[in-house]
Amino acid sequence: SRARETGSGFEYYHMEMKRDAQKRMVMVRELRKAVEDLHFLPYYQPQYSLHNGNILGMEVLVRWKHQDRGMIGPGEFIQLAEETGLIVPLGEWVLRTACMQWKEWRNKGLSPGKLAVNVSAKQFQQNDFVHKVESILEETGMDSQSLELEITESAAMYDTDKAVANIHALSDLGIAISIDDFGTGYLSFGYLKKFPIQKLKIERSFVRDLRADSDNEAIVSTIITMAHKLGMSVVAEGVETEEQAQVLRTHRCEGGQGYLFHQPMPAQDMEKLLKSNMNNRNVPFNTAT
Ligand code: C2E
Ligand code: MG
Ligand code: MG
Ligand code: MG
Repeated sequence: SRARETGSGFEYYHMEMKRDAQKRMVMVRELRKAVEDLHFLPYYQPQYSLHNGNILGMEVLVRWKHQDRGMIGPGEFIQLAEETGLIVPLGEWVLRTACMQWKEWRNKGLSPGKLAVNVSAKQFQQNDFVHKVESILEETGMDSQSLELEITESAAMYDTDKAVANIHALSDLGIAISIDDFGTGYLSFGYLKKFPIQKLKIERSFVRDLRADSDNEAIVSTIITMAHKLGMSVVAEGVETEEQAQVLRTHRCEGGQGYLFHQPMPAQDMEKLLKSNMNNRNVPFNTAT
């Protein structure tokens, strides 16, 4: 760059910082407008039973329908949404929209199974979070027994008293709590057993290089064994190969989610999948005939 050529490293650094700050300001402005105008789309990714191939449920993953840049994945904006507090209205919209969709599928006679919705730490810390969830359930007719909220380890640890109270209150409503990206944070099993947590989702990075007799196999098998001893079920995220699924099956992991089965998809595609799944539900899974 010119600044570097003229010899001032500091000036160069300063310009970079200024550019980053400007980019961020533009992005915040666009994100705020997008939240106002609801320029988002829910995608759905199915979770499969590794034992019999049935659809256990699905996770809703939000996308930003950006007017110039097309569809933007949450990796590019969720953090900014958290930092600006925009995650609160956005997360509420995702929850309401997905619950409405779930109910519509039920009304059509389909079996969408469990609906898993990601909840960020910022949402979880809101004083009226549980109340909001309750009113969304009422408003949409979503069955609380079929709703699962995915929180990260850090959200579960943050402001522990509030987290404990919220988890208990949600659980009293019949809602399941799962810990997302398990294995990346500092949650101990000792801490986990104090909570009514139904499910652990094994972080994708442990599944990525999962082969028999690998270090990751040791980690994954330990997580699964401990989870089962504490009465929790396990879903592996990022399952891409049959080999990974096989290792997970060997260790009695209940569920798998990943490109091996399906990528996240728009609601219409998910509906087609649910329909074809209904028609084929008596076909056995993986039978060697
Ligand atoms: P997550 O909850 O851990 O979701 C799983 C991510 O892994 C998704 O990325 C999904 O598309 C991706 N994935 C699924 N299967 C595979 C696979 O086989 N291989 C690979 N490489 N990736 C796979 P996505 O959709 O980009 O979402 C990223 C993260 O953004 C999510 O991670 C979640 O933490 C957050 N997020 C998404 N939607 C929401 C939301 O509505 N609210 C909040 N608070 N966070 C959300
Ligand atoms: Mg998740
Ligand atoms: Mg996850
Ligand atoms: Mg993840």
